[in-house]
Amino acid sequence: LTSQMYPDVVRDGRFGEISREDVEYFKSILSPGAVLTAAEEDLSGYNIDSMRKYRGQSQVVLKPRSTEEVSLIMKRCHERKLAVVPQGGNTGLVGGSVPVFDEIVISMSLMNKIRSFDEVSGILVADAGCILEATDQYLAEREYIFPLDLGAKGSCHIGGNVATNAGGLRLLRYGSLHGTVLGVEAVMPDGTIFSGLGKLRKDNTGYDIKQLFIGSEGTLGVITGVSILCPRRSKVVNVAFFGLESYDKVQQAFVKAKGELSEILSAFEFMDRASQDHVARFIELRRPLDEPHNFYVLVETSGSNRAHDEEKLQTYLEGLMESDVISDGVLAQDETQAKNLWTWREGIPETLGKSGGVYKYDVSIPLDELYKLVEDTRVRIQEFGHAIGSDNSNVVNVVGYGHLGDGNLHLNVAVKQYDKEIEHILEPWVYEWIEKRQGSVSAEHGLGFAKKPYLQYSKDQNVIELMRQVKKVYDPNGIMNPYKYI
Ligand code: FAD
Repeated sequence: LTSQMYPDVVRDGRFGEISREDVEYFKSILSPGAVLTAAEEDLSGYNIDSMRKYRGQSQVVLKPRSTEEVSLIMKRCHERKLAVVPQGGNTGLVGGSVPVFDEIVISMSLMNKIRSFDEVSGILVADAGCILEATDQYLAEREYIFPLDLGAKGSCHIGGNVATNAGGLRLLRYGSLHGTVLGVEAVMPDGTIFSGLGKLRKDNTGYDIKQLFIGSEGTLGVITGVSILCPRRSKVVNVAFFGLESYDKVQQAFVKAKGELSEILSAFEFMDRASQDHVARFIELRRPLDEPHNFYVLVETSGSNRAHDEEKLQTYLEGLMESDVISDGVLAQDETQAKNLWTWREGIPETLGKSGGVYKYDVSIPLDELYKLVEDTRVRIQEFGHAIGSDNSNVVNVVGYGHLGDGNLHLNVAVKQYDKEIEHILEPWVYEWIEKRQGSVSAEHGLGFAKKPYLQYSKDQNVIELMRQVKKVYDPNGIMNPYKYI
């Protein structure tokens, strides 16, 4: 069997086909309404990803409410060799969260309880299906913060965040989930429960198995619970937004930010002019700076002493102005202004999605060459006879932005509609470009289905073979999220 969507991919004949008895069994172990079938309702919301780029044909969606229910589901799937796709908020950007053929979707949306929170240590234990924004709100009421934030926070799950090792907007300050996640509870492909919900910051007792689940993208087991160390919420948050004329100056501003804002620096995001011109076409807000600039930077500080933090940020900005690093800038005067400034950064992926199709490249590159990829991409697209621009006509819009503080560029190529010719101009060229600079083909979005052919550009064959062996040990029948990167 091949998929209409992916003519080159063949359904794995080892997998069973879901039968009426399977559906009846799932109905008998799950709560009423927790088994959805294509025969009775429209499952497209579970079969199609958020970019509407990937589409599967799952006939059954299961919505467990407890770890025990997930375990019973997986036991059955193990016995019957039924392939599954764990699904969180379905906001992933690499086609990992939707089936390719008829894999069963295990939606974690009903597992959304906070299990415990310790107000002294800041350790939160919660179900995998808790929505990121709701979890952060829960913590805000207790003066704590979730150590991760990203544009899809209103829909993505914390289990999905852990499964993708999401990076986002606070990584510069709080580090990666590999450091902040203290424990993971997961159901293995044969139904065994891995109870690794540790709450210890220090635990050197051999292999740290939970680390394998962080970033495994549903290929090793279903994450059902997460224990995570949450920092105190900063009392004072300041946001500045400024314009610069060259990428070199963006780097100078970053070095100065690390030196002068040091412990209060919580975000350093950069955006190019094309990205901001694009956002301006879609949002009602007045642009933060009157004159156009080639680059923009959003700096956020988070601290505890208003006078101290504001003075630091003010001095930093004045220093940049005096040394001619920045051309113009604004400082948010209140929370609403700060939120509006963030819209110019967070609105980029959202508004780009409205133009039609977007080829997204989420890559890590050594900082000095980070923006060169955007420039070279524009040249390449023009060499193949396509016009570059940011208006609404039939041109290709190439934009660059990202978490500069983490060496993470988002190169986005927006087109009226997905077009194989443009795709072939870009791929594998972009990945070869990255390989030459020893970068990563996936900084934070993961590999999923989209980047399966490109893993070799970032990992050598020995490492890929080790990854395959790990997969075999955890999932000998290969039923966990098949056809994806491993
Ligand atoms: P899904 O999309 O549902 O799933 C993603 C992958 O994880 C799939 O492979 C799935 O099988 C697996 N998975 C999900 N839940 C589980 C589970 N409980 N157990 C096992 N496997 C599971 N990402 C960033 O890193 N940084 C950003 O700044 C960022 N910004 C974004 C902005 C927008 C507007 C959008 C749409 C996406 C953005 N993303 C970003 C990508 C995405 O939001 C993250 O990858 C997010 O962590 C995915 O969470 P989810 O719950 O939606 O997972």
